[in-house]
Amino acid sequence: MKAWHDECGVFGIWNHPESAHLAYLGLYAIQHRGQESAGIVTLDGSVHHAHKGLGLVDEVFKEETLRSLRGTAAVGHVRYSTTGQNSLNNAQPMSASLFNGPVALAHNGNIVNAEPLKQDLRARGSIFQGTNDTEVLLHLIARHDSQDLLTCIRDSLERVEGAYSLTILSHKALFAVRDPYGFRPLVLGTMDGIGGRPAYVVASETCAFDLIGARFVREIQPGEIFWVDETGEHSVMMTRQVPRASCIFEHVYFSRPDSVVFGESVYEVRKRAGQTLAAQDDVEADIVIPVPDSGVPSAIGYAQKSGLPFELGIIRNHYIGRTFIQPSQSIRDFGVKIKLNPQSAVLRGKRVVVIDDSLVRGTTSRKIVNLIRAAGASEVHLRIAAPPTIGPCYYGVDTPEKSQLIAANQSLESIREFVGADSLRYLSMEGLRAAVGGQNGGFCAACFDGKYPTNLFGLEKDPHGNVREVV
Ligand code: AMP
Repeated sequence: MKAWHDECGVFGIWNHPESAHLAYLGLYAIQHRGQESAGIVTLDGSVHHAHKGLGLVDEVFKEETLRSLRGTAAVGHVRYSTTGQNSLNNAQPMSASLFNGPVALAHNGNIVNAEPLKQDLRARGSIFQGTNDTEVLLHLIARHDSQDLLTCIRDSLERVEGAYSLTILSHKALFAVRDPYGFRPLVLGTMDGIGGRPAYVVASETCAFDLIGARFVREIQPGEIFWVDETGEHSVMMTRQVPRASCIFEHVYFSRPDSVVFGESVYEVRKRAGQTLAAQDDVEADIVIPVPDSGVPSAIGYAQKSGLPFELGIIRNHYIGRTFIQPSQSIRDFGVKIKLNPQSAVLRGKRVVVIDDSLVRGTTSRKIVNLIRAAGASEVHLRIAAPPTIGPCYYGVDTPEKSQLIAANQSLESIREFVGADSLRYLSMEGLRAAVGGQNGGFCAACFDGKYPTNLFGLEKDPHGNVREVV
């Protein structure tokens, strides 16, 4: 279940007559990656048209707006702030007018040395409009004295540490860039374009390609700068070589199950995680239920492996807007009940295994266990299809600071007591590693093992999960 929002999604398209409309659909497909703001910038001849706003994709863009975003190439972005506040100044793509033309940049990830870079840029006269780390990238690019945008991008990124999957639109090219660790996903696809030539599409997740009918070609490689212009497609690798560290949490929670991420189907990964959870379990129970929607694939895997019947013991209301009117009189568990309704007909008198994808603060699980029990279950056994979350993320996933992570501070037994379950088990780290499969190189699992692949430059998260620098 989604307890709070996070992260971002990026999109790019080149050589298509309906670039704004396809960017809109692409962003629609990756809306789960960010719900606070959305934006599209198109390239029309050598001019950019931009529209961005606060809200969901279909709130920010109407048909009329999309029609005014003329052009044959576009970049787009959906955002929830992991750094900076929620304001229009922070909405992306971020645009700048460079001496040789306009540039628009969309960024997914979090730059860990943004503060030192900002201080340096400010000392040299840069003025920042917003509070996010993406603007730093734009300033670095803008300050470079080369006339060649590729050189500007490449040299600027040499100074940047952390997570970035980028789509960048200039007056004559679309760039797709991924940091050398490959933290965040970024995929390349094609479809029929203008003049018998292909259209190129770049997106955070393959589910965006499915919607617009694009063919998946490959991942943008960690450390790759890919671009397409009038002369066709090109690619160079950054000089920096580091071990691959793709975000394991993309598979656990963040990506859509119908996407192929880091070369593996997210649905299959989650199912395997559930199967392993069952293989490591000896609980006696009557039914397996998921916490919808996040626990569904793992619960299917668990049920298949254990032979227990899979049931929908909790029904999710999908039509919750971002604000709803609360009754003035307090109703118990109102917040979670408006979204999740336990079915007594399924749960009464049953020993229930309930599966969720992750347990972070424990507050959601506690409410859910309570609801299941109140609906008549005789036993509630909570199973988590990931290891205990013990570390905050500094690479773009919205996890709170360490003091709020229940597993970083309490024993398994006291977590079980807190959530009120009869038993509690997590997937082992080895189980998760086996489930995510063999991609070339490794994963960043810092949220589960506390091993951060980069220097953190003294970053810390405050209790709300906002990144701040401690000096
Ligand atoms: P809690 O343990 O109460 O903090 O919440 C755990 C629930 O939040 C699980 O159901 C997850 O599906 C969901 N969740 C885990 N990580 C995130 C995240 N970064 N953003 C939003 N929801 C999340």
